[in-house]
Amino acid sequence: MTPVTVTLTLVRGDITLQSVDAIVNAANSSLLGGGGVDGAIHRRGGPEILRACRALRASHYGRGLATGRAVATTAGLLDARWVIHTVGPVHSATEDRSDLLASCYRESLRVAGELGARTVAFPAVSTGIYGWPMDDGARIAVRTARASAPRSVTEVRFVLFDDDAYVRFQAALAAEG
Ligand code: ADP
Repeated sequence: MTPVTVTLTLVRGDITLQSVDAIVNAANSSLLGGGGVDGAIHRRGGPEILRACRALRASHYGRGLATGRAVATTAGLLDARWVIHTVGPVHSATEDRSDLLASCYRESLRVAGELGARTVAFPAVSTGIYGWPMDDGARIAVRTARASAPRSVTEVRFVLFDDDAYVRFQAALAAEG
């Protein structure tokens, strides 16, 4: 039997408009909202997501979500079943934090597998406010998704906000995918 392999796809657009089982949020450790993808997800997804995040803070995540980890909530009004929140590392010129960025993709996919999600949309984690160079962020994203998607996940969709990000992910997919 041919082994099932995940399909990696690229879309240029807004991650909050995707129809998938799980949308990954580039959250911050507070889980209480922020700018970029995080702000867009809470705006379009409505207050239910923030309520679920507050409940996480009040229970198992009293100190917030650690960098490189992932946790799921409802997707509120988004066209998805879950939002998987992950906290990317802030890019550092002096310290290699690549393992933490890879961990975001790996942990998010592990959570997706546990939930039974088949289709998962990712933003380019850490490449906005957290300053990660897009080429390297794309390489880590593609390589890690390819290596760690559970069998139940059939599509990992990278949703890139602008042409530059799209082109760099295309190059990473050609090289790694
Ligand atoms: P981080 O804090 O992890 O860097 P950001 O949300 O600032 O996260 O940015 C991550 C990436 O997502 C950036 O490349 C940014 O351009 C992009 N981005 C911002 N808003 C959206 C959106 N609505 N849909 C998809 N990508 C987005």
